[in-house]
Amino acid sequence: MITFEQAYEIVMRSAFSTGTETIPFTSSLNRVLAESILCDINLPPFNKSSVDGFACRRSDLENDLEILETIQAGKIPEKTIGENQCSRIMTGAIVPMGADCVIMVEDTEIRPSGKVKFREIFKKENIALKGEDVKKGDEVLKPGRIIKPQDIAVLASAGHTIVNVSRMVRVAVISSGDELVEPSEIPGPAQIRNSNAFQLMAQAERSGVVAVYYGIARDNENETFSVISNAISENDMVLITGGVSMGDFDFVPSVLEKAGVKILFSQVAVQPGKPTTFGVHNKAVVFGLPGNPVSSFIQFEMLVRPLIYKMMGCEWKQVYLKLPISIKFSRKYSDRMALIPVVINDNNSATPVEYHGSGHITALPDADGFISVPAGVESIEKGEIVSVRQI
Ligand code: AMP
Ligand code: MG
Repeated sequence: MITFEQAYEIVMRSAFSTGTETIPFTSSLNRVLAESILCDINLPPFNKSSVDGFACRRSDLENDLEILETIQAGKIPEKTIGENQCSRIMTGAIVPMGADCVIMVEDTEIRPSGKVKFREIFKKENIALKGEDVKKGDEVLKPGRIIKPQDIAVLASAGHTIVNVSRMVRVAVISSGDELVEPSEIPGPAQIRNSNAFQLMAQAERSGVVAVYYGIARDNENETFSVISNAISENDMVLITGGVSMGDFDFVPSVLEKAGVKILFSQVAVQPGKPTTFGVHNKAVVFGLPGNPVSSFIQFEMLVRPLIYKMMGCEWKQVYLKLPISIKFSRKYSDRMALIPVVINDNNSATPVEYHGSGHITALPDADGFISVPAGVESIEKGEIVSVRQI
């Protein structure tokens, strides 16, 4: 049995690139950027007023100022500001020639003469200078990032309405097991609802790809073979849940070999998720994930998600919250690395959730994340800092 670190290394080494495609920037949320974005203009493009007020000269602030014109955002100023003069100006408008500051309307009064008087102590210019944020030609976004709403604003400002992104990994999801019925059905005696497939598709969607559901493969070799080989021929990645343990009807490993998949590992020293299986085909990677929903959820997060991102050219960084554990954690066997669902409390500590094992599906919605306990570690003392990976 290999360690989790070895499994991770093998999985990441098996990444192949999905290539790129060009899409409208309005559809690019959560996609991986595949080009460097340069800005075609200065930002701001002109000296811009950051307040509503009066554009004038700092040296005149003691005096009454004559108003020359009103400058609206989107309009070109017509007058140059001279001594003891100003122009009424709106936020976002071009600061007129001759002015070196904009005083806020709230800090002024209008004299009976119709002139403007500054009533405050000077604090700042209130001018955003041309090019102070971005110079024309600057790189504003680097390839390999996951596009966020903030990035879409940058794409819009830079005029990049068409954007080159990595093609989404095509993911297939297959469930395996005679006991499974679909969620809309009432399970008969000895049956359970298929929850895993839909959990995995949702996890895939959250990882920026769309998964296609290939249904439930019954526990017989022929049916399992035909579903798996179809899925392999039509996708970059195939996720099969169930059928990978050591039971008499766990056909997935033998079927994978028959379908031409080279199995790279079939057991990992991790809990939950020991039977996690991984293999490669000439143009696809295949995961056999455990049937238990908690195991398959966690192994997707640990192995599948990083691979999806890597195949799309994104070195995804996992962020951990460093929090004290609120109670002592101990376990009987420490031969495997353990992944323990935890809740984050109001006082920013972490507590393992009540968890009856990897079939306990309602333990996960209660959890805010999970911690990993290395092999060989039997207990964690109350108050020790743990690294929480949010889910
Ligand atoms: P297996 O890996 O096929 O031995 O399944 C392990 C456990 O997970 C069994 O209790 C199965 O009934 C359960 N299981 C398998 N597939 C699913 C699924 N798609 N949804 C929910 N539970 C499942
Ligand atoms: Mg099964």
